[in-house]
Amino acid sequence: MSTRSRASSAVSGNNVFVTLQDIQKESLFSKVHKRRRNSSITVTAVPNTFNKNNVKNNEIQIVNWDNLDEWQQDNEFIYDGYVKETSSVMGCIKSLNILHNESVNIWSHLVPSVIYLALLIGFTDFILEKKLIQILGAGHHLMDAMDYVMINIFLVGAFLCLFCSSCYHCFKQHSESVSVLWSKADYMGIIILISTSIISLLYYGFHDHLFLCKLFTIITTIFGATCCVFVLNDKFNHKDWKIVRASFFVLFAASGLLPIFTGFFVFGIENSIKRVQLLYVFFEAICYIAGALIYGFKIPECYFKPGKFDYFFNSHQIFHLCCVAGSVFHFRAVIASFVYAKTGIHSNSVFIF
Ligand SMILES: [Zn+2]
Repeated sequence: MSTRSRASSAVSGNNVFVTLQDIQKESLFSKVHKRRRNSSITVTAVPNTFNKNNVKNNEIQIVNWDNLDEWQQDNEFIYDGYVKETSSVMGCIKSLNILHNESVNIWSHLVPSVIYLALLIGFTDFILEKKLIQILGAGHHLMDAMDYVMINIFLVGAFLCLFCSSCYHCFKQHSESVSVLWSKADYMGIIILISTSIISLLYYGFHDHLFLCKLFTIITTIFGATCCVFVLNDKFNHKDWKIVRASFFVLFAASGLLPIFTGFFVFGIENSIKRVQLLYVFFEAICYIAGALIYGFKIPECYFKPGKFDYFFNSHQIFHLCCVAGSVFHFRAVIASFVYAKTGIHSNSVFIF
């Protein structure tokens, strides 16, 4: 029961008077946790005089789980702070100005996506090449067309993934059809990020063994295309498929282990660690796997009363932060692999330069 709900309860002798809303919420809690409580108090329903539902804010209604349409009900452990169906693009955009239970999900991917877009526009041209010349001296023109493509292709993937995710969380309250459309864009963004992450690092791992580079690029493309077929299927989007969805993406990402083990066999473990900066790939994998597990098993909200993590620190928000951290580790690995391939310099520091 939330603080506001408790405020609407009154105690008189052995009787406790609660609002209908309290009872609805308590029944949800009981259903979720499947616990029985021993209580000697008498509970009497009285008309709800503290109705926090239907709060209007610039045409946007913030409602709780009980007042949602069924298609909007996704995570039963998140009770309050939902934006009711807006049926308006402007309504969804206006919701950016108020705090609701998708606010952190929107901004946690919108801000990094803008940073990745800025890096896409300027990193290789105005930062990377100049820094290398500073290190190695003038006359070294190290970046060729393939480097330019491989580094920027990862930045495209990171930007698209985070931007589509942010749009999904912003526009999912528009209507059921728009929500389904953007959820597919969200999943496609994840597939694009996984594909571009694997391919960009493949190039540096096998830059002098182009057949293996080509072979694993083909395999990754086939896996990615298969994933696309699944995510475009409406059944994949159902809330009961949450763990299947998380497992699916983890399995696709895990296919990146194939070229790594091949690298161990061809180059040896120590050389492979330097070629693709395995330390950072390891940190990246930890972030993605932890994020997927937290998302799939709804940690931490499933262990607490619904309502405790409505606005902050729920599983989806932690998952978003894990995705951003994983992409940063991968970016670090790609740049360090590029530097190693071109100069033979291997650095374990957080910053390359
Ligand atoms: Zn999300």
